[in-house]
Amino acid sequence: MKSFNTGILAETHICARCGYCQTVCPISHALGWESTGPRGRIAIAQHVAAGQGATTEHARRVYQCTLCGHCREVCPTHIDTCALWLDLRERLAADNQLAAFPLKTISANLAKFQNVTGDPPENRLMWQDNLETPIANLNSHAGAEVVYFVGCVAGLYGQTQSIPQAFAQILAHANVAFTTLGGDEQCCGFPLLGLGQPAAARERARHNLAMVHALGAHTLVAACPSCYHVWRDDYPRLLDAPLNLRVRHASEFLGELIADGRLNLQPLAERVTYHDPCDLGRNSGVYEPPRQVLAAIPGLELIEMADNRANALCCGGGGNMEAVDAELVGAIAARRLTQALDTGASVIATPCQQCKRTLTNAARKARARIKTLDLTEIVWRSLAA
Ligand code: SF4
Ligand code: SF4
Repeated sequence: MKSFNTGILAETHICARCGYCQTVCPISHALGWESTGPRGRIAIAQHVAAGQGATTEHARRVYQCTLCGHCREVCPTHIDTCALWLDLRERLAADNQLAAFPLKTISANLAKFQNVTGDPPENRLMWQDNLETPIANLNSHAGAEVVYFVGCVAGLYGQTQSIPQAFAQILAHANVAFTTLGGDEQCCGFPLLGLGQPAAARERARHNLAMVHALGAHTLVAACPSCYHVWRDDYPRLLDAPLNLRVRHASEFLGELIADGRLNLQPLAERVTYHDPCDLGRNSGVYEPPRQVLAAIPGLELIEMADNRANALCCGGGGNMEAVDAELVGAIAARRLTQALDTGASVIATPCQQCKRTLTNAARKARARIKTLDLTEIVWRSLAA
């Protein structure tokens, strides 16, 4: 294993061991041990930095993290903890530590099929099979102004295919000249960064950007916060070049359509609470656009949860953690669900397919009468009302 000698790793030595990060970490809250929180992970980083290698248990603790960014938010010495966790994961992956976890299956699927599930590329089009109204030029249409990047989870999981269906229908309703990359879309690379495989993520970035440029589009829009974050913030870094592309999250793009008077939103009498996805909120700094979209729907009542925006609790779904400890994901989601139920809302709105999956599963397990809907689904319901 190579030694830690980067600036990032030097940061572990400025850790004051104050423990603020421990108090906000969802893993630490669920499991309680020092080693399960960020301060414990810093100790593991120092251990590995000293050339003492890493055990499987060390690796479990490093991958038992949703990359939610809450520890970074509160660290008084401003350690960029998420960058540190990714750096550590890269070193562990190079040391073959993935092999002990189901993470190796995700890694193999990404290498062979360029998606997390191991589906053949044509399955990315399944969500298009039963659209209410057929949409023209949905796949790889040269000359489209906007490319909608669907993402693996929304495109390949039955539970979330209603999200691309809703968003594509909204775009068509607003007469946006858009297309998708169809079966040529590949994983955005975010799960690869989470696995500790940035070189493979760079290849995905090269492919996807080349496909978008070949179509001549000027805007890339993603409804998945992780795809958005990696396109906006990681692709320029990975490729060491500007993208020459406007990158928008669906919530920002919907806000632009509303401001331009292109969405005829109809009343929707629902009590809704909003869940901030970590990759959109803390990790990308996008807090208000989704709330503004909800506020533009007549009749919709928005009630905030006790912890929101930069303090929002994680839903447990990030950082590839489902492949490391699915039970822990459920425990973290159950905590967020409790906050949502405390608001008295009947709908949890979230602009993220993975948050939709974790919170829906938590509600089903708790037999709670609350639905989780993606922001695009709510907007589509309003348009169709
Ligand atoms: S909050 Fe920052 S300084 Fe304090 S223990 Fe955590 S990482 Fe170290
Ligand atoms: S990123 Fe989130 S889950 Fe990971 S150590 Fe920090 S607070 Fe805990």
